[in-house]
Amino acid sequence: MAKYTAIKVDVDTLTGLCVGVPNILDLLADYSVKATFFVPMGPDNSGKHIGRVIKKDFLSRMLKMNPVKMIGFKNLLYGTVLKPPLIGKGNAAILKRIVDEGHELGIHGWDHYQWQRKLERMSKDGIRRHLRLSAESYAEIFGSKPKSTAAPGWNTTNSSLEIQEEFGFLYSSDARGIQAFRPKINGKSLRTLQIPTTLPGMDELGVAGFSSEQILAFFEKEWQRNTLLVLGVHAEIEGITMRSQFQRLLALAATDGVCFERLDSIAVKLYQDTVCIPEFEIAKAKVKGLEGLFSCQKIS
Ligand SMILES: [Zn+2]
Repeated sequence: MAKYTAIKVDVDTLTGLCVGVPNILDLLADYSVKATFFVPMGPDNSGKHIGRVIKKDFLSRMLKMNPVKMIGFKNLLYGTVLKPPLIGKGNAAILKRIVDEGHELGIHGWDHYQWQRKLERMSKDGIRRHLRLSAESYAEIFGSKPKSTAAPGWNTTNSSLEIQEEFGFLYSSDARGIQAFRPKINGKSLRTLQIPTTLPGMDELGVAGFSSEQILAFFEKEWQRNTLLVLGVHAEIEGITMRSQFQRLLALAATDGVCFERLDSIAVKLYQDTVCIPEFEIAKAKVKGLEGLFSCQKIS
């Protein structure tokens, strides 16, 4: 059985927060599972993703993940013809429900779209501003600083990782990888522990050609491994379009006796572990089933 198993729920859009998250919370409650949620606190500019939707190499994913079904037609207009609404900052009641039901809540940037698409061109002050606005919005709602962060779109740069250090997070979950580690930049180790997403999302497996049954069989085999398992879930996907498939996965996990923990409790255990936390660089790489490049733990 896996050493640590976690569900990391990324929220990318207003529809994801208002529709997908309540659905996921209901499912998690049904199976007594605690998870970690990451929510962008600022504007929903997901309508600007329309340009990506029509890109040829994105088509196969969209055929399975109809964007209108996933985030709603109105959401596709946010940031284009409609003024973008604030996601987390504008919906404190849903954020409080996440926390009240015993889950962990961390920040997922300020403007998800801008971070995901334009981080490489942002100034250091611009990056700092994104993190500050998000952390301040969280503190306004909860009266304390966020303990954790996850980079939108698994997108980091050396600058974003270094600036993150100023915020004193317990850990961050910014990358794809195989184990917890401390990022190393130009030979220098950063303080903030990285707990990467280690498992492919159900949508990624679907794009890779897995049937519903094969997806379940894949995860059942994975959680027999004695290692860190972090399943990346999206409110817009597992909470809306693949909701019934996610329910089947939770039911299977319950049958198999899988114990899901919040990422913050895993972080505390890792810090207490006598085994040294290894250092790794982070580099951009392709991820099967997704379009583009993503920050990945660099395994040489
Ligand atoms: Zn995201």
